[in-house]
Amino acid sequence: MKHNLTCVECPMGCSIEVEVENGKAVSVVGNGCPRGKTYAENEVVCSKRVLTTTVRTRGGSMLSVKTSAPVKKSETFEIMKKINAVRLTAPVRIGDVLVKEIAEDVDLIATGNSEGV
Ligand code: SF4
Repeated sequence: MKHNLTCVECPMGCSIEVEVENGKAVSVVGNGCPRGKTYAENEVVCSKRVLTTTVRTRGGSMLSVKTSAPVKKSETFEIMKKINAVRLTAPVRIGDVLVKEIAEDVDLIATGNSEGV
């Protein structure tokens, strides 16, 4: 089975065609660099994304957060349930680890400063 993808690893947005047999990528064409090959192989077998969202602080304001690495799309719902249960106490600074191991080998980190910093 052939899959047509647009690589999102850089602004070039290469069109990539991946041939998949028995759940494995057996051919990748159209990628402009090795990162695109890796992206395409992972995308057709186990799609992953960095998850970005917001978390409420105890003061009621919202703080932007993201996962420290891409997480499996299939795990997004469970991770969001954990994130939605988080309540932060200020001060929080950009880069602070808010939840260790929110997913396997992935932390939840702040991408903004909370009020009161
Ligand atoms: S294949 Fe390489 S050059 Fe093309 S979009 Fe992906 S990262 Fe960029």
